Amino acid sequence: MHRKKYNVAILGATGAVGSELMSLLIERDFPVADLKLLASPKSTGKTLSFNGQDLVIAPVTPESFNGIDIVLASAGASVSKEWAAIAVSKGAVVIDNSSAFRQDPKVPLVVPEVNPQALDHHQGIIANPNCTTILMNLAVYPLHKMKPVKRIVAATYQSVSGAGARAMDELIEQSQAILNNQEPKAEILPYPIGFNLFLHNSPMDDQGYCAEEMKMVNETRKIFDYPDIQITATCVRVPVLRAHSEAINIEFSEPFSIVTAKELLSKAPGVELIEDWSRQYFPMPIAASGKDNVLVGRIRQDISHPNCIELWLCGDQIRKGAALNAVQIAEVLIDRNLI
Ligand code: NAP
Repeated sequence: MHRKKYNVAILGATGAVGSELMSLLIERDFPVADLKLLASPKSTGKTLSFNGQDLVIAPVTPESFNGIDIVLASAGASVSKEWAAIAVSKGAVVIDNSSAFRQDPKVPLVVPEVNPQALDHHQGIIANPNCTTILMNLAVYPLHKMKPVKRIVAATYQSVSGAGARAMDELIEQSQAILNNQEPKAEILPYPIGFNLFLHNSPMDDQGYCAEEMKMVNETRKIFDYPDIQITATCVRVPVLRAHSEAINIEFSEPFSIVTAKELLSKAPGVELIEDWSRQYFPMPIAASGKDNVLVGRIRQDISHPNCIELWLCGDQIRKGAALNAVQIAEVLIDRNLI
């Protein structure tokens, strides 16, 4: 049967998420008719290779979206705010990786394994959730479906690639500088990250929470369609190149069997259970890098509370936390004739 193909634009093609989007379109045999690569004016005229072809990067103009069916946007919130409505007015569906529209009640915020039904009434813009939130939701939702979660206490260990492609270069340069007894230069991240860590530097609110932490709270409530869930988080940037890690404590209204939790997570879509207690082998960022699934392990009873369980996870936040989730959303839209 002839498969319909779609004209796709990647807005932010030169970035960490943009380059992963390009790889995923090929890997997943996404039905691309034409691919348009858009980035900032400083990348205009450079080329990137896609499926054996060198594609020239263009700056964004209203005409960029003529004839485009799907925009995969990953150029930051201000760029999305500027261009998403224009792309929609030209007939495109925009799947946006930035935080620009995530809390807009008209915009679905979707993790396909959790709430694909939210796509049914989309109005052109679909928001991809925050990366840390997507990874946590994949591990928590299968348990929440069985017994509603009352409260989550999370601590995150977030890789530098979460701050973009140039932050990865900065970690490498700083590490080399320190090993050569030179002063590390911090230009992208606010403080030296080589051989260091610091609290996530997104803007702080009056309660003392940073925006990244509040994304985990507010986005999970919207994705689960469950405003009662209580969440507190501490987000930390660590000197890891790729893949975020999270320690998650989950409280229910009554005890939750560890055996059941492991059974549920061993079958959950997008999750891989990794536990070898004899070798103390549990999820690690290097094992999660480049993988589609979030790796979950060390599931155990919280000895301090009968209704709580503890787990640990690692997930490639450029992939499932951003690019893969966006491509999966596009695949659901196609499967359900929503585009
Ligand atoms: P990045 O590596 O810094 O890439 C940013 C991209 O945006 C580059 O292609 C850049 O083009 C482009 N851009 C910047 N200003 C632009 C403008 N005025 N017009 C058009 N394009 C412009 O960032 P990233 O990590 O890929 O993140 C991109 C978005 O995804 C952000 O909203 C981020 O919050 C979100 N996100 C990132 C991750 C992650 O793990 N990295 C995870 C989830 C969500 P030039 O190269 O020409 O400057």
